Amino acid sequence: MLNSIAILGGTHGNETSGIQLVRHWQNGNLPERFRALQPEMRLVNSAAIEANVRYVDDDLNRQFTAHRLEQQCSEAEAQLARQLNQTLGPKGNSATDFVIDIHNTTSEMGATLIILQQDEFNIQLARFVKHHMPEANILLEDDKAYSEHPYLCTVGKQGVMVEVGGQPQGVFREDIFQLTQTLTETILDFCIAYNAQTLPELAPCDVFILGENICFPVDETGARIAMIHHSLQDNDFQPLLPGAPVFKCFDGTEITWDQDTVIYPHFINEAAYATTHVAFATASLTKL
Ligand SMILES: [Zn+2]
Repeated sequence: MLNSIAILGGTHGNETSGIQLVRHWQNGNLPERFRALQPEMRLVNSAAIEANVRYVDDDLNRQFTAHRLEQQCSEAEAQLARQLNQTLGPKGNSATDFVIDIHNTTSEMGATLIILQQDEFNIQLARFVKHHMPEANILLEDDKAYSEHPYLCTVGKQGVMVEVGGQPQGVFREDIFQLTQTLTETILDFCIAYNAQTLPELAPCDVFILGENICFPVDETGARIAMIHHSLQDNDFQPLLPGAPVFKCFDGTEITWDQDTVIYPHFINEAAYATTHVAFATASLTKL
């Protein structure tokens, strides 16, 4: 039974869809059918929202490991993380049954539901979302245990992220907002069915499983020597075949995918990862 549900926007202050959706629903516009769920709705990082930046001192969505929460770091987001852990968590023994944290990406990932473990709850949720919103992508990040993820949503007993793009940082697009609203409402419809024990038996659905981050090639000074190839750009979750071009170098040459497996790139050219030179993440495709 999901007795306490939290819907969060503005974990990153320049990801506008979740901020606007939470504001809209806080202003009395939560659809009637969700009112029995009594979700708590929060705009998380108000200083970053005010400044229209991802974060003030440090990435809030990387603070929620046991180690970071125990350290008495003075960065604005580290302090905020400890407060959120007290009010929504504490992580590992949480007062919140389910946290839905809403994000935007600059990559063309459409409406993506990120789940962090393949237990019965998350598999049922994935199938429900895919059944009611076939255009949504399901991405499973279970490269580490749920409790070891640094993400804010893991303060809940269960936590997922809504990740919708492509939308530039700080920009508000109506189409992206609609996808965000539809995916979030579909998750809440799942919560209603879950609590009423009326979930249908659904067939396994397509799920992308996170692989690894692929970085831009750099020279000995750390400067990039290549761009995302135009045939890969904006093709998030489309299969990348062995031998297909990945990078276009400034000297005119191309770098191709040199592994012998098909991968499904996503977070292609994500603006927030540019400083770490992450070009995209890989995924495999399975049925869950
Ligand atoms: Zn984000």
